[in-house]
Amino acid sequence: MTDYPTQPTASHFVNGAYLEDTTGDVIDVIYPATGAVIGRVHAATPAVIEAAITSGRAAQVEWAKLSRREQGRILLRAAEMIRARNRELSVLETHDTGKPLQETLVADATSGADALEYFGGLAGSLTGEHIQLGEDWAYTRREALGLCVGIGAWNYPTQIACWKGAPALACGNAMVFKPSETTPLSALKVAEILHEAGLPAGLFNVVQGAGAVGGALVNDPRVDKVSLTGSVPTGQKVYAQAAAGLRHVTMELGGKSPMVVFEDADIDDAVGGAILGNFYSSGQICSNGTRVFVHKSIREAFLTRLAERLEGAVMGDPLDEAVNFGPMVSEGQIAIVERYVAKGIEEGARLVCGGKRLDKEGYWMPATVFADVTDDMTIAREEIFGPVMCVLDFEDEVEVLARANDTEYGLAAGVFTRDLARAHRMVAGFEAGTCFINSYNDAPVEMPFGGVKMSGVGRENSKAAIEHYSQVKSVYVRMGKVDAPF
Ligand code: NAD
Repeated sequence: MTDYPTQPTASHFVNGAYLEDTTGDVIDVIYPATGAVIGRVHAATPAVIEAAITSGRAAQVEWAKLSRREQGRILLRAAEMIRARNRELSVLETHDTGKPLQETLVADATSGADALEYFGGLAGSLTGEHIQLGEDWAYTRREALGLCVGIGAWNYPTQIACWKGAPALACGNAMVFKPSETTPLSALKVAEILHEAGLPAGLFNVVQGAGAVGGALVNDPRVDKVSLTGSVPTGQKVYAQAAAGLRHVTMELGGKSPMVVFEDADIDDAVGGAILGNFYSSGQICSNGTRVFVHKSIREAFLTRLAERLEGAVMGDPLDEAVNFGPMVSEGQIAIVERYVAKGIEEGARLVCGGKRLDKEGYWMPATVFADVTDDMTIAREEIFGPVMCVLDFEDEVEVLARANDTEYGLAAGVFTRDLARAHRMVAGFEAGTCFINSYNDAPVEMPFGGVKMSGVGRENSKAAIEHYSQVKSVYVRMGKVDAPF
């Protein structure tokens, strides 16, 4: 176990320092590429949760007294430190998730740094407004919510910690962050770096644990907001619990997003988009365009080009930078994918490639493509969260839009066409929070990200996130006498 550079200093980071309590349940950290246990943390006990909440609340009161520019400067410093340590953090993220280093070097710590940089820069310009009312006037104060709880999924541990932490801190809040129990390592480093950058103790606490620890945080009356990234069933539970205390929520949940490829599309771009939107991070991305609707007239050309491009997938040691396709995160997740593959075959979809886990240690599932998929098949209706692409045929724009929207989810949607008017018509019609034209899965911090329908509530990133981490207080100011009836 000690051969790996991954054993954390301690399980939790609370009140500016690492904290251990070995009486909490043991959580093994497993390297998905080999299945080996490479670290061990303990779930937070009630004492650890208490320390995280009380130190968070106390620190927030002092934090909110600083000028926003001073707050922002600390986030900017943390962003710089993350960039300077990108390789070390990427190696850690690769151990935590199994994602190839080729990916983590460009998509994980770097996107976390983007969020800290963006919200750090924005902090100084977060203001209320002045409203003139004749001689009287009103003003608004943009105030922090207080103590926010962030709960993460396992696919982007560093990014999720920063996407939640950066706007929360920039708006004057404290955060208690609970990473997924599957990937507990990276968020600890984010906390460590934030504090090295000058963040006062207690403002960004990390506690480990599974659903029970998450539930204890969500139910605590001292918590003002909950931001969850996870599955729809977890979102329903957490949203209901948060509602009992009328706490603010952001819910970033699952999806079964459509990608529509028209007959006039640039086939190589469309295939590239479909590869990014189905196989990056071994398909473990919430916004993936897993229902690829391809116009009947170009279906064979699309599948042929896709098969050629998939030859370029290199599976192997994720720490080898030539490798571009990693393992799935866990035995549990690959077992889910195997069940869906079997279901797809049973229900009559045509397995074009992949579908069978590799006969080696770790959780390796190659790129899997099903063609001749129909709307009613289980693999076209349910989120799989693995490297499984479903290719469906269509003939007509109106028909494909209705079919694209015929899902309980609404996270993302994409369209590939050279017809500009059609692209914008499709986007206007998509029931999805995040759309792409001739592209797929771009998520720059400047652009709002989030879902509609069962895929979520609220938005992360961009100025839109400010609305979800702050509240407005209105102040009426009378300049003359008070005119009372008696
Ligand atoms: P999950 O729902 O199993 O767990 C998510 C987090 O919630 C974990 O930290 C878990 O410990 C915690 N949790 C579980 N039960 C809880 C409870 N009762 N109370 C409080 N917390 C609880 O999801 P996962 O398997 O970690 O991640 C995969 C899912 O996340 C997929 O559905 C995927 O689409 C979704 N996801 C969404 C986004 C997005 O931004 N929309 C991003 C990544 C992943």
